[in-house]
Amino acid sequence: MSDFYNDNENKDDTTEIISEDENTTTADEGDEHNSEYEDVCFVCRRPESKAGKMFKLPNHICVCNDCMHKTMETVSQYDYQGMLNNANLQKELDQLTKHGGFPNISFVNLADLQGDGGIPNKQKLKKKKKKEGEEPVLDIKNIPAPHKIKASLDEYVVGQEHAKKVISVAVYNHYKRVATGTMNEIEIEKSNMLMIGPTGCGKTYLVKTLAKLLDVPLAIADATSLTEAGYIGDDIESVVSKLLAAADNDVEKAERGIIFIDEIDKIAKKKNTNSRDVSGESVQQGMLKLLEGAEVEVPVGANSKNAMVPLATVNTRNILFICGGAFPDLEEIIKERLRKSASIGFNSELKDKYDKEKNILSKVTVEDIRKFGMIPEFIGRLPVIYTLEGLSKDMMVKILKEPKNAILKQYQKLLELDEVKLEFTDGAMEAIAEKAMERDTGARALRSIIEEFMLDIMYEIPKDDNIGRVTITREYIEGTGGPIIEIRSNQVAEQVKELPGE
Ligand code: ADP
Repeated sequence: MSDFYNDNENKDDTTEIISEDENTTTADEGDEHNSEYEDVCFVCRRPESKAGKMFKLPNHICVCNDCMHKTMETVSQYDYQGMLNNANLQKELDQLTKHGGFPNISFVNLADLQGDGGIPNKQKLKKKKKKEGEEPVLDIKNIPAPHKIKASLDEYVVGQEHAKKVISVAVYNHYKRVATGTMNEIEIEKSNMLMIGPTGCGKTYLVKTLAKLLDVPLAIADATSLTEAGYIGDDIESVVSKLLAAADNDVEKAERGIIFIDEIDKIAKKKNTNSRDVSGESVQQGMLKLLEGAEVEVPVGANSKNAMVPLATVNTRNILFICGGAFPDLEEIIKERLRKSASIGFNSELKDKYDKEKNILSKVTVEDIRKFGMIPEFIGRLPVIYTLEGLSKDMMVKILKEPKNAILKQYQKLLELDEVKLEFTDGAMEAIAEKAMERDTGARALRSIIEEFMLDIMYEIPKDDNIGRVTITREYIEGTGGPIIEIRSNQVAEQVKELPGE
């Protein structure tokens, strides 16, 4: 058996097979490189650009190196009622390399079933054209200073000044370390981060923007779906395979990526349980190795490991982990600590002093997070801890209009295509923000509110070619009036009480 493996992996033999096959299929091989199509493995369906050089079998069937090896491995495990001993196996292999196929074993040739001709492109995948001229805003090989990173973030993310500052410095340090490779000599800790902030305040958005600006792959995972390996749910290493998929299965690119684990507070240690805590503390334990840096074997192009899926080894040492969560009861824990420290002696303060304080979360300490249920080893591996503020009405208004891809700008662009100008009065924007504040789901509510009332506008406006400008007013948002619609030709403004058709 071991001979089989050794010979199988012998590079000379492999190249021999390829070169022999190449000799046999010369006709259409010539323009292969110029063709728009690339070969796809018959078994795992990966294209040549991902799976590497293919074995070319007759009838335009291609099999990648991995699948070929796997097939050989599987076949070699049969003993054919004792017919194959090691010596026989060796002979078989010799024959295989000579004739390009297994003796007495033939692949079912689908090409024969489908008739001749016209097959090649069905077995091939269109090559992805390389995007030209796309330069990342921030180059991680030559990482710009933190203030420049923050300036780029400012264009998209409103407010959250402290968070943007911390994240810029952490990312700067991280990629500087990665670029210079100093992590080997002086074991500097990674700047993994823990982000605390109420829902809809921009945690995911901040990380997404950052990954886009740096042009690094990003995997977003939900901690609630993670369980200890062997239990129902995604095992912890699945986050790395998500990242590999986001990096188009390019291991080197994935190793410089970012993994964002949302809802991290949901894996806090469960209190008062006698059973095994497979989705809480155990997940934290399981993540320790990943956060620190470990070699992880992940399946390529699939979610689960199985015999036919090739595995890739990804080192998580240079992957930046960012964990985020709302930590709902953390405020109480912080208040309690503050009260305790201030309730004795002459300096004692009123009990409800901290109840009114708004940004109590920003006073968080490692001890509070530990009390919440995160284990010390886990917190220790997330050295950069910071909080995001809840959104105020002013911030909501800014989110509506200021970011580069602001929601209002998106609608304006949409209507511009119909040559209609869309405008919002300040009152309208405030009314939207007020409505969003009531829902208590952060900026996420903004889009759903706008979608609601823009539906009529988007439905009615394209009906009439004469409409040149639409102004959304506070009355329209509050349901007491209509938008102001101006006609293109004579530019007469008329206040419309109700939309046409209503
Ligand atoms: P969470 O904090 O719950 O992860 P998200 O990051 O998903 O919230 O935010 C939801 C949406 O709200 C984002 O897609 C983004 O458009 C918007 N948003 C939230 N906060 C901000 C902000 N500070 N600046 C700009 N947009 C924001």
